[in-house]
Amino acid sequence: MKAENQAYKLDRENGIIDLPIRAGLHIQLGLIVSDYHRRYLDDKSLSLGSLTLLPDRVVVAIRKRPPKAYAPESIVSLDTNERSLDGVLVNEDRIEAVVRAEFPDVSVIQSVHHDRRMKLQKKKSHDRRTAKRLCAREGMREHHRIDYRMHEVANAVLSFAEEKKSMIVLENLTGIKPRMGKCMNRRISAWPRRKLHQIIEYKAAWRGIPVVKVDPRYSSRKCPVCGRIQDSRKGTEFVCGCGWHVDRHINASINLLQTAASKKAAGGLRFDPGAFQHDVVTILCGRNAVRSEPNGTSRIKAMT
Ligand SMILES: [Zn+2]
Repeated sequence: MKAENQAYKLDRENGIIDLPIRAGLHIQLGLIVSDYHRRYLDDKSLSLGSLTLLPDRVVVAIRKRPPKAYAPESIVSLDTNERSLDGVLVNEDRIEAVVRAEFPDVSVIQSVHHDRRMKLQKKKSHDRRTAKRLCAREGMREHHRIDYRMHEVANAVLSFAEEKKSMIVLENLTGIKPRMGKCMNRRISAWPRRKLHQIIEYKAAWRGIPVVKVDPRYSSRKCPVCGRIQDSRKGTEFVCGCGWHVDRHINASINLLQTAASKKAAGGLRFDPGAFQHDVVTILCGRNAVRSEPNGTSRIKAMT
């Protein structure tokens, strides 16, 4: 049974639900309230949504109105890569810090689970149903491990932005299809970069941190000083004929920042790349020691 929020009453103090069945007839349900539930029941900023009654439990939806985003005093611009978010913190027109949130273990987790699925399929090739079930289980485990890691990364980025009262700039990843070999495509598309952005965005809304997404076109190939667009995107260092040179990922984040700043021309932050100093990188989210895999493959050993 499902009831909308006007159709029932919840005594938040005592955890009793009152449901009118028909005129003059109510039923009352006493909930088992744990400390976990208490946290939500006592939070008066949360309003109640619909109620779902199941044979073994009651589900009460709660709503929260996100706070108004603060007026940013600085910008954190981040380029999303396979193993890290790399970027700069800009205050006024000065780059205050080069920042990085690393997640090198995500691709390790992915390759481990991918290898396990391949193995399972080979081993259970005579029994497709079992193979399917076991592969699905592997998939869930992979999903949970990566999800956990991405939440950690997102929290680190958001705490940093909140502390610096920053707006976050990310690239808009929709519609991007990397054209590389089949193997590379699996690697790139499998890494859920969009999912990481989604996590950052909804957590940011929850905490009142402004987020802007910009078109990443040419961000990896453009020189932010002279505007020249290069043909190649190879190498770890971006070097331009005008004398500008910087880490390629950092260069991309500066381009994203400029795109974001030019979008809101009036009052937007104008950034002078000449003011850039090669600062020490601030690590927001560190290189976690990759946990040894219980059924580790040779691939893992080679990587750790
Ligand atoms: Zn240049």
